[in-house]
Amino acid sequence: MKIIKEIKDLRDEIKKIRLKNKSVGFVPTMGALHAGHLSLIRQAGRENGCVVVSIFVNPLQFGPKEDLKRYPRDLKKDASLCRKASVDIVFYPDAKKLYPPDYKTYVSVRGLSSRLCGKARPGHFEGVATVVAKLFNIVNPDTAYFGQKDAQQAIIIKKMVSDLNMPVRIKVMPTVREKDGLALSSRNAYLSGKQRQDALILYRCLNKALGLIKSGKGQPYKIVLAMRGLIRQIKTAKIDYIAIVDSHDLRPVEKISNNCLIALAVWIGRTRLIDNIIVRGIL
Ligand code: AMP
Repeated sequence: MKIIKEIKDLRDEIKKIRLKNKSVGFVPTMGALHAGHLSLIRQAGRENGCVVVSIFVNPLQFGPKEDLKRYPRDLKKDASLCRKASVDIVFYPDAKKLYPPDYKTYVSVRGLSSRLCGKARPGHFEGVATVVAKLFNIVNPDTAYFGQKDAQQAIIIKKMVSDLNMPVRIKVMPTVREKDGLALSSRNAYLSGKQRQDALILYRCLNKALGLIKSGKGQPYKIVLAMRGLIRQIKTAKIDYIAIVDSHDLRPVEKISNNCLIALAVWIGRTRLIDNIIVRGIL
């Protein structure tokens, strides 16, 4: 496995792989790798002759009051996990190289970026789309792998790729959870033992919503009210949003139907957690 820092070195390496007629699978990450990331990496390995993982804590997608500085970073551990998962190349670029002082270009996926998480995190998805577009141009992958855990991000990236005619296939893999249902996230590391328990409320809420839909009590506003009621019972929890939306345009739905997305963001203490499910095969 190679760990490459420079853009030119990465391009040269990809050229060599292309000469061997190997397809390239790409998994963009911010590091602090866990089993969620590894499921994307394994899928990339099953489907490609070469797997590239980028590890880059992208400053552009953090707001001024967010956790850029304290975001967990551990290249040694990440590299060891990548090696075990048979990754071919870890791309570990420097922020100053990706965004030199005269940097001016930003990718904005309008509408989709201002909904759900975009409301509380203005500029976040512009930062995400910009870095992913840059990474796609550098890595030139056949397929890139994203997690359903960040549903809005995956929807925005798919739209960017389609609108800008980018020659890459996007695959979205299911959310990997702890045994008790908590969605794996690098930010779970911020939680105390008690908060870790409280954080289960997100998954419980989503299950409550599914239960209501299955039993036919499926009016979106009633489901949201029931979810709010559950979260209110947890003292450390503060709702950012709960939304039931169309999984293509992220607009609120008036009626539950298959393929709608139930998504929420909840603060547990100082940690903002997100989770979601897509309604499938129930109705
Ligand atoms: P991050 O390092 O948080 O930017 O995530 C990198 C990629 O891993 C994104 O496509 C995420 O959606 C995906 N990911 C993060 N957590 C999970 C999870 N629990 N299950 C599946 N994919 C995940």
